[in-house]
Amino acid sequence: MSLADPVNLLGYDLRGLTAFLAGIGEKPFRARQLMRWLHHFGEADFEQMTDLAKSLRVALARTAVVEAPKLLADSVAADGTRKWLLDVGAGNGIETVFIPEVSRGTLCISSQVGCALECAFCATGRQGFNRNLSVAEIIGQLWWANRALGRDARADKATGERIVSNVVMMGMGEPLTNFDNVVTALHIMLDDHAYGLSRRRVTVSTSGVVPNIDRLRQECPVALAVSLHAPNDALRDRLVPINRKWPLKELLAACVRYLDSAPREDEKPTPHGVKWQRQGAPRDFITFEYVMLAGVNDRPEHARQLLDIARQVPCKYNLIPFNPFPDSGFERSSPEAIRRFQEILMNAGLIATVRKTRGDDIDGACGQLAGQVKDRTRRAQRRAEASA
Ligand code: SAH
Ligand code: SF4
Repeated sequence: MSLADPVNLLGYDLRGLTAFLAGIGEKPFRARQLMRWLHHFGEADFEQMTDLAKSLRVALARTAVVEAPKLLADSVAADGTRKWLLDVGAGNGIETVFIPEVSRGTLCISSQVGCALECAFCATGRQGFNRNLSVAEIIGQLWWANRALGRDARADKATGERIVSNVVMMGMGEPLTNFDNVVTALHIMLDDHAYGLSRRRVTVSTSGVVPNIDRLRQECPVALAVSLHAPNDALRDRLVPINRKWPLKELLAACVRYLDSAPREDEKPTPHGVKWQRQGAPRDFITFEYVMLAGVNDRPEHARQLLDIARQVPCKYNLIPFNPFPDSGFERSSPEAIRRFQEILMNAGLIATVRKTRGDDIDGACGQLAGQVKDRTRRAQRRAEASA
């Protein structure tokens, strides 16, 4: 970036915005005001920020921009699920999905262009990896959704509801391999001057990047979902290759540490000092996601192995019927197999839900997000060569 490049204000949490404004001689309370304009009202035009001094508005127009990824396509599924394809430059596109329900509205956000982790059953993984998203590109999805849905990001005064009430980092990419940007974006989601979401309503989903589960606990604990998908190492090594690096024993130990809400001796208060931050997880369980693949991981013996895991980690299971994509090589488990599997878990006293498939007619369901990825890992080529 050259000195003349304007900074994108969507990339700053409160601390960053305060530092940026200090750099042009402004007081910290201006950062809170500016944050509200940017995120409560979704305002991109400095001229409209009427309670900022004219001189500050001029200075901002000279040095800064408010820039979310641009819209490439907008699709609405029969069930009301909405999917936006957003342009992140150089021919790359990312996908963001909004799932309206009676009592909540969930936004599923992407963290990377593609994904490097190659889980066998995932369309995003199949595509290869291009790059990490910036903070502005991550938070820009929430910023964009609030604008597109036509609402102020704050809770509705009459009903107390927000149109986007929950955020899940379950779109394209592995959030914990884009750690710093994801954590800064999480700060913005949680900040009362921005989106004010509670930590229980923001979920990070990871395939099991163990060291960064620990860092997340320290730096910004939010609800945690872990993509388990297999109850033993032999099978998980195949389905979720990162398991070869951090096998189940280590992953489960990290989950237990994540839930331990007592600060440890070596833990310092986080540098951000925002009032919602305290040490420890906001929920007392981990959500284990488990994609149901016919004949692969859906047998009763697999469910019984999951009972063992639940003895080690307080958890809920979320069973996800596999969403097919071309040449995936997998099939969705039958409703009967899924029901039997769920029953084994529930009869043992566990909570096990089956995720409703939403938005699959617009390829907006879990694992179907493919966006437009210019793969830099040459994965497609390697696959073609391997199968030639
Ligand atoms: N990389 C993170 C978050 C994104 S994936 C992770 O893996 O957790 C969000 C969820 O969708 C994960 O649980 C993922 O395993 C699951 N998923 C991936 N492909 C799927 C498919 N084809 N059908 C159903 N779920 C899938
Ligand atoms: Fe990446 Fe998650 Fe897909 Fe695995 S399931 S390839 S970690 S996006």
